[in-house]
Parts: sequence; C-alpha cells; structure tokens
Amino acid sequence: MIVIIGAGPAGLAAAKFLAQKKIRVTIVDSQSHTGGQYWRHHRDERGIHPYEELSSHPFIEWKLRTSVWQIEKSNTGSFHIHTITNNGKEDGATEILDAQQILLATGAYDRTLPFHGWTTPGVMTQGAVQALAKEHRVLAGKKIVLAGSGPFTYPVAQSLLKLISKDSSGSKPEIVGVYEARSQWRMWPIALAMALNPLKIGEALGYLRLLKQSGVAMQRKKVITAAHRNSEGELKAVTVSAIDKNYVIVPGSDEYIECDIAAISYGFTPDMTLAGILGLERKLVKDDAVVAVNTKQETSVANVWAAGEVTGVGGHDLAITEGLLAAMNIARTHNVRTNVIHRLIVMKRRIRQHLFAAATLKVFFVPGQWLSWNDNSTIICRCEEVTLGEISHSFQALGADSARTAKLFTRAGMGLCQGRVCHRNVRDVAALFSHEKSASTTDNNRPIGAVITLGELSD
Ligand SMILES: Cc1cc2nc3c(=O)[nH]c(=O)nc-3n(C[C@H](O)[C@H](O)[C@H](O)COP(=O)(O)OP(=O)(O)OC[C@H]3O[C@@H](n4cnc5c(N)ncnc54)[C@H](O)[C@@H]3O)c2cc1C
Repeated sequence: MIVIIGAGPAGLAAAKFLAQKKIRVTIVDSQSHTGGQYWRHHRDERGIHPYEELSSHPFIEWKLRTSVWQIEKSNTGSFHIHTITNNGKEDGATEILDAQQILLATGAYDRTLPFHGWTTPGVMTQGAVQALAKEHRVLAGKKIVLAGSGPFTYPVAQSLLKLISKDSSGSKPEIVGVYEARSQWRMWPIALAMALNPLKIGEALGYLRLLKQSGVAMQRKKVITAAHRNSEGELKAVTVSAIDKNYVIVPGSDEYIECDIAAISYGFTPDMTLAGILGLERKLVKDDAVVAVNTKQETSVANVWAAGEVTGVGGHDLAITEGLLAAMNIARTHNVRTNVIHRLIVMKRRIRQHLFAAATLKVFFVPGQWLSWNDNSTIICRCEEVTLGEISHSFQALGADSARTAKLFTRAGMGLCQGRVCHRNVRDVAALFSHEKSASTTDNNRPIGAVITLGELSD
C-alpha cells in the first residue's frame, strides 16, 4: 500500500499522477476537505477544482478527517501508520494502515511574532483570516489591519477585497492598513528570480493593481508592536511602529490605528511532527528545520518520500511540482515507465521554483531582534501562558542551555498546539542566551503527532 499523508497541493499532485498510472494510493488528511491550506476555496475563478475528478477515482482510497498520530517501522520493513478519525464523537475511530511506501506531504503552519497584547481576541494569523475568507466567505471583522512580512499578505488582501466588494451591509468593512516589515529596496533577489519564473511577474502585478484600485497602500518597514483592548477585552486598536533593517524600532515612530482585526503573518514554519516520528534527516533552511530530500524527493529513510512545504516553504506551485516528481519516482519503483523528457522538464521546473523560494526566504527572513519590541511580560507560549521573562529566567538562573531545556523548565511549547505557534520563537530567545547555535533540526521532536485519547494510547 502507498500512503500519502496530506491532501494539499503536493499530496494531490502525487495522487493524481499515481492513479493515472493505475497505481493504488490511500490518501490521509485530518481535514474534512481535500486541497490542504491552498485549495480552501474548492474552485478557482473559472469554477474549476483542479483535482475534483480524483474524489471518485477507483485507484484512490480517501481517509479524510483522519490524523496520523504515530508511525512505526515493522520487522518486515513496512510501516504501521496509526490513525484516528474524527467521527464527531468524543472517541475517534482508530485504524492501523500497513504501508510499504509513504509520501509525506504535511505542509507548514503560520508563523507569527509575539508583541504586547497579541493574545487579545481580534488578533489572528493571516492564515486564519484567509481560511475564513476562502472557505466560508466570511470577513473576520469590519476594520482589518494586515501586518507582518512576506508575500502571503497579497493573496490575503485579495481575498478580503473580493469579499468587501460584494458586501451589502450598511457599514462597509474595510482594510485600514497593510504593513510590511521589509523595505522595497531589499526585493531585488525576488525580482531576479522572477525573471526565471515569468508567471510570478503577472501574479505580482495583479496583486499590486488590485491594491492600487482599492486605494489600499502597503506601508513598508512598519510592524505591529502592541494591541489594545476595549472595555469588553476585545481588540480596539494596534500600535504600528517603524523599524530599521535589523528589526529595531525607530524611536518616536509609533502610530495608533483603530481596528477590530489584526491579521499577522511572518511566513510559515514547515511541519516536522511526522518527520521527527519517522526519524527523517532534516536540514536547516534559514533557521527552519525542513525534511532533507534528494533530487527524486526521497528522504533518508528507505521507501519514504517527502514533497511540498515539509521540504521547505515555497508556495503551492512548488508543492505541486515536488508532489509530481515524487510520484514519478514512486511509479518507477513499481516498474511503471515514466516519460524521461517529462521528468526532466519537471526537475527543471523544480530548480526554477526553488530559486524563487530561496530568494523569498532570504528577503523576508525574520531576525531575532523582534524580541527587542517586547519586555518580560510579553507572553511567548500562549497555550501555557509562559512569558518572555520566565523563559529568560530559565537561562539566566535555572541552567537552561537550549530551546528544549528552556521548555522543560517553563512548559513553553507543551500545551495543546504542541509548540506549533511558539517553538520557533522560543528558539530565538534561546539564541540570545545560549552559546548553542539557535537552530537545531530536532529540538521540537514529538512522540505523538495528533490529539489522541488516553484509551488509544493505552491500547
Ligand atoms: C493557514 C494557511 C493558509 C494558507 N493559505 C494560502 C493561500 O490562500 N494561498 C497561498 O498561496 N498559500 C497559502 N498558504 C501557504 C500554503 O501552505 C502552501 O502554499 C501550500 O498549500 C503548500 O502545499 P502542501 O501540499 O505542501 O501543504 P498543505 O497545503 O499545508 O497540505 C498539508 C496537508 O497535510 C495535512 N496534515 C498535516 N499533518 C497531518 C497528520 N498528522 N495527519 C493527517 N493529515 C495531516 C493537513 O491537514 C493539510 O491538509 C497557506 C498556509 C497556511 C498555513
């Protein structure tokens, strides 16, 4: 059995190719719909979902609402994939899939940076705002601020503006500000990479045109440094401050912007949960751990391939290319012939798209100096309510010497989200105090990959 974990752009591209070659696959995803983070809108502007025909394909078995929480290697070399299906009851249905080959395509999650008041209701990730807009056609609020760093702000603004243009309620919702931490003068590596990826030029021009037509101007070298609450405890305004190229606040530059939603994105963090459980070799890309793969998308563990944002953040088009390439190479292990020219074309496309992804990561890299916007009272781990002061104290007084030991002292990263929100930021704190290099590929290893019941664990 071939099991694809993740039904996002990477997993779907792989499933499509393999099914077309009459190779059976099982595709598992914790969400109730296919498409991952990108195809939440189900259909594009022309009313087409590029993978719709897969839903009833005879060579694909679907396991949606199903999370993989553990993977074991059996004595015969196959993999026992432990899954739990959310069937609406408290106790999910569990199943063990016996897989000979695995394609890991579990994507990435939002990165946000903590600031004073960031746990106020109304402060959200841009991913969450985008999910509401794309999947449910719902605007998160009436006066929305977008802030952070990276190209993701553009599609989010586009989704919001589309909904705003259709809004017929009396008080028209609006985007009251769009703030990007980086200056336009840093963008030249992206401009060069665009020359190799001409479709990106059209995409970028489309976003810029839309913002201009809507009268929404992006203000650069500015970030949100505080959120303010109204008497009900909800968001009423944010402080926006100018920063220099090192992410240090320019004194006296604060502005007070009224809003009811502040949507923040500082890019994405690849999801290493199952990669850690499988013991896959990982490498650091701009301080983020990603699954190391070769040119065939093979990982360090035999019969495990990886594709999409688990191998590095690069957008949905790179994820599709990698999923396709992995599938072509999996097909070859089943003695199914693939067209050499087609494979070479896909490999070349992957190189081009990787160059674009690398340029984007370089331009929008987040340095650890964001910590200087905060004081000891700022919460870093919101699940366990651990402050910057407590994490600093673990280094200065308790003997912590890495992100991992700081977490053991303070419980940062041990709450419901299992470090998905705070782990990357705790590492930046660790870099301030420890002599160890801040980034490690294994310091967020988790033995369990999804929420499971005590009963399931004891079985
Ligand atoms: C919240 C959010 C919204 C985004 N919206 C956009 C957008 O609108 N436009 C855009 O260009 N980019 C968007 N992105 C970026 C996006 O991640 C990629 O460009 C693209 O979706 C990556 O494709 P992928 O196949 O690698 O992973 P994903 O699309 O992330 O798919 C991974 C899939 O794996 C599943 N999964 C993960 N772990 C498990 C597990 N243990 N068990 C079972 N299933 C699992 C997830 O449910 C998910 O469906 C968004 C990212 C996030 C985090």
